[in-house]
Amino acid sequence: MKLVIASNNTKKRQEIVAILATVGVRCVAAHDTRFVPVQEIGTSFAENARLKAKSFAQANGLPALADDSGLCVQALNGAPGIYSSRFAGPSATDEDNCRKLLDAMRGKQDRRAYFICAVHLAFPDGRAPITSEGRVEGFILEACAGQGGFGYDPLFFSPELNKPFALASDEEKASVSHRGRALRALVQQLR
Ligand code: IMP
Repeated sequence: MKLVIASNNTKKRQEIVAILATVGVRCVAAHDTRFVPVQEIGTSFAENARLKAKSFAQANGLPALADDSGLCVQALNGAPGIYSSRFAGPSATDEDNCRKLLDAMRGKQDRRAYFICAVHLAFPDGRAPITSEGRVEGFILEACAGQGGFGYDPLFFSPELNKPFALASDEEKASVSHRGRALRALVQQLR
């Protein structure tokens, strides 16, 4: 099966392509994808994933897969949550967001957090969509560590890997990540 990825986040795309390749699913290259602006106005990860997947499936005439994901921090009552990409403002960079998270977590004893990823596969011909979710638990570090990954990876310590996500290889991260789990579960349903 060939599908379009409904995201212009390069790092996220790379992770999705690599994870799907391990289970034999091919993705249309970014330069062959028609990108459509989608306002993420949903009130949940699942709803935002649905909005993105539906628009891309219609615009490209192909099945489209969207991932909506984010970081939920216990001591911040689940923030930044669905606002993870714009935690520090509408045009925030990953560095800005990490800095804001470090500031918000200064002095906090409870460092528990999790990443969550909702995936939605929409079809252009009205076939029922396939959805799934994945989650990974961890802790927020007191300082950034590592250069790998993207987003909050330098601040997310994974007990399962015994290292921050930004110090893990792509394969290690995918083996436990919210995105890896969500996509593998979605492919199971597809089969
Ligand atoms: P989305 O593109 O609206 O789904 O926003 C996802 C945002 O959540 C990203 O911009 C990151 O800030 C954060 N995020 C999601 N997945 C990851 C991950 O695997 N590592 C680090 N940050 C992530």
